Amino acid sequence: MGIYLDIQGVESDRTFTPNEAVKGVVSLKLHRATVISDVTLSLEGTTRTSLIEKGPAFILGNDVPKVADESHQLFRRSKVLFPHPNSPFIARGYTPSEGEYAFPFEISFPLSAECSISQPELRHRETILPPSFEAQAVKAGAHASVIYTLRVELKRRTHLRKVISQEQSLKFLPFDPTAALPSFLGTGYHTRQRGLYISPQGSLGYSETALPILLLEAKLPSPPVLYPRERLPLQLCVRSLPTRIRHVLPVKLQSLLISLRSTTEIAADIHHTSWTSSRRVLELHGLDETISCDRESDVLSEIKPGVIQGVTLPEAAPSFTTCLIEHKHSLEIDATFSLSEPTRLSSIKLVINVEFGTGLYPEDTGDDGDMMPPIPLRRGCIAHLGASDTVDLGRDPPPY
Ligand SMILES: [Zn+2]
Repeated sequence: MGIYLDIQGVESDRTFTPNEAVKGVVSLKLHRATVISDVTLSLEGTTRTSLIEKGPAFILGNDVPKVADESHQLFRRSKVLFPHPNSPFIARGYTPSEGEYAFPFEISFPLSAECSISQPELRHRETILPPSFEAQAVKAGAHASVIYTLRVELKRRTHLRKVISQEQSLKFLPFDPTAALPSFLGTGYHTRQRGLYISPQGSLGYSETALPILLLEAKLPSPPVLYPRERLPLQLCVRSLPTRIRHVLPVKLQSLLISLRSTTEIAADIHHTSWTSSRRVLELHGLDETISCDRESDVLSEIKPGVIQGVTLPEAAPSFTTCLIEHKHSLEIDATFSLSEPTRLSSIKLVINVEFGTGLYPEDTGDDGDMMPPIPLRRGCIAHLGASDTVDLGRDPPPY
């Protein structure tokens, strides 16, 4: 073909952060003198969603899958590598001679998304650039992605193939918010409680007359932010409540499952959908541990403290929001208990919403005047975490 174009020197496994420069060299080899309009390098981010929806099955002709998709450019920056900015403009192009050319470049990621499609009142205000991301619903045909691409394009005016291009995907992770979560989240613990209920007739489950016989409480430091590769700072406490229904005792903990759940909500055109994937971080079976019922004290006893806090959290995409995608997290705790009578097992499922961070923060830039503005909280974060720590056993809906 006579023209060889390549991006060199950018490591494919490197993860970039906000305002970080991507440095490399564009290599151009010409096998003969060639007329070129320009060689331009660009860095861009794109968020895409797609989903397939089926209409009601019973209406003739309405079972054709309907495809919706949407794509927003998060930002785009470009630099002309050739001709040199001081070269006089030549409308018919430039004619470098046969040979090898190297164009060193440096192009930076921004801090915030600069999407122009968004309707501010609906979705997308100034929000920090989301992480590289790809997820799809297990069953339904829904897909979401955030992709960052470094691309070099060589343009010619006259040829059939007017543009020759090369591109490379880059991995990107945002910084964690530097803004503090509002004080109503509290500074002590972020807690959630759930009761296990039994009716005076001995049937398990929540009803008007049912009484709680057991209380499970999950506690995370407030604000509840988890990080990949770090320990799970969860405390799980349980208390067998004084009960008139003595024959249920002793209550024993039989199994304990803890999962990190990731929920992806997407919009595509006028359609919406969401899906959740779950990763087990702890699985304990056959515990057969008696839960103490201390009538005198009001203290909850901690279960498996060393084991739970020994869990290392997996790599997972951090919580983020764009116009089209909201990605959020929760911890799901599933504890199974056995009662003396009735003898069947009963479980308490408890979900505690969390933020999943990157653990990355801007470096202190010192006095060079190039300070990065504070990283704002993810939109939707406050609503996701909830403002209240209080629990009312009477109104707390049962988990089954
Ligand atoms: Zn947008």
